Amino acid sequence: MKSAIGKEEKTVFADHLRKNRLKRSEQREVILDTFLRSERHLSVDDLLQLVQKKRPDIGRTTVYRTLKLLVEAGLASQLDTLGQARFEHEYNRQHHDHFICNGCGEIIEFSSPQIEQLQDDIAAGLGFVIEGHRHQIYGLCRRCATRAAPADAARR
Ligand SMILES: [Zn+2]
Ligand SMILES: [Zn+2]
Repeated sequence: MKSAIGKEEKTVFADHLRKNRLKRSEQREVILDTFLRSERHLSVDDLLQLVQKKRPDIGRTTVYRTLKLLVEAGLASQLDTLGQARFEHEYNRQHHDHFICNGCGEIIEFSSPQIEQLQDDIAAGLGFVIEGHRHQIYGLCRRCATRAAPADAARR
């Protein structure tokens, strides 16, 4: 099973490189593979750390540039949290939105048919054609919220 991971994604990436007259490189393959094996929302440094476990010779600039290529190729999407870019899988993924913790940076995914429907209705009323959206809702996760207000938590 493991060797089959991201077979389609690898083809998409190879096509993207070809279209842009960029060379396929073994380093880029390693970075893509590492990215695909993680299910987290990774910063450049998170991914760098994972990559360097296998290949300490791969540097931050290469990881950063490759991530940008993955976004261009539609394999990754970028969200911005606490002033830091994070990347997640995009290819063949269901639409979802994010709660982002301002305390620890945790990212919680959610999707709500009601919210999706509501924004479609509002857009239709305005004659606005939606091409995409992204909700990033900032706040405190359960753990950070409890830590921020220990007196409140104790009273409950
Ligand atoms: Zn938190
Ligand atoms: Zn996500």
